[in-house]
This record gives sequence, structure tokens and C-alpha cells, in this order.
Amino acid sequence: MMTTCYIALGSNLDDPAAQIETAFQELDATGHTRLEARSSLWSSKPLGPQDQPDYVNAVCQISTSLMPAPLLDWLQSIERTHHRIKTRHWGERTLDLDILIYGDQQIQTERLTIPHPQMTLRNFVLLPLAEIAPQLIIAGEPVSNRADSIDQAGIFRIK
Ligand code: ADP
Ligand code: MG
Repeated sequence: MMTTCYIALGSNLDDPAAQIETAFQELDATGHTRLEARSSLWSSKPLGPQDQPDYVNAVCQISTSLMPAPLLDWLQSIERTHHRIKTRHWGERTLDLDILIYGDQQIQTERLTIPHPQMTLRNFVLLPLAEIAPQLIIAGEPVSNRADSIDQAGIFRIK
């Protein structure tokens, strides 16, 4: 059985736009997961420490036969192939892959919180998500409504 999921991508090191484009390809290049839709690339200001480069963000829709924990394992293995190294909390990274939505499931474990708890507060998630899934209901409201009402300072579409 394939489950529809939404994944958030972010990068602010080592040619961020290329990191994201490569990640889209990697998310499609396997038997268990298919890339169904991808947003534009967006430029956004960093959360947390401000002495780091701006981010490139995007969102994609996949369908996958992986259960949530194996999906996270696989996404983290992709992060590692992009040479992601841990720096500080909310610090710079070559690639961050977060699971926003996994089907209609609500998950609360040590490793996973789904839906992603901060997604409705982040313009760099909502604006790209509104491009590919405007009617998707999150927190009781269509993504497009939520995207229209969020502060859009510092974020713009790059391609
Ligand atoms: P962040 O994404 O918050 O900047 P990390 O990418 O380093 O930080 O992730 C920290 C931890 O967040 C991961 O080890 C993972 O277990 C956990 N996590 C919890 N919920 C999710 C989710 N929905 N998607 C991805 N990671 C998650
Ligand atoms: Mg993450």
C-alpha cells in the first residue's frame, strides 16, 4: 500500500539550490517511493542564529510504501549522503528533510511527531506547500488560507 506524504526540504550550505534539486531526484529514484509533486524553490531567512546564510526551502509530495520510522531512517540516510553534520540547534545544514504529513496519521514517538508541529507557523513550509497542495487541511484549515494569512516578510520564490 502506498501512502501519500509531504516532505519539507531545507538547505543553506554548499549550493543550497543544487542540494534540494538533487534531493528531489533521490526521493524518486527507488522502488519504494515515488515523487508525485514538487514546489518551487524559495529563499528564506534563517530561524534561530542569524549569523548563517539564507535558506533554500521547498516541499514535495511523495507516495511511499515505507512505514513512518523506516521513512525517517531513509530520509536521514539521504541527509548523510549530503554530508550533513550536526552543528548547533537550528544551525546551518547542507540538507534537512522533515516529514510534514504521513497519510492521515497522527504519530507521537520519541523520534517522530507527525503532523510536524511547527508546520503551520512556518512561511517557508506553508508557501511551497500551498503551491502543490492548496486544499490540504492542516489544523482544521486549507493550506492556502493559512499561507495567505501568514507573515511573508523575508521569503520569496527563486525558481
Ligand atoms: P530540525 O529538523 O528540528 O532542525 P533535525 O533535522 O536534526 O532538526 O532533527 C532532529 C530530530 O527530529 C530527528 O532526529 C528526528 O528524530 C526528530 N523528528 C521528530 N519529528 C520529525 C518529523 N516529523 N520529521 C523529521 N524528523 C522528526
Ligand atoms: Mg529535520
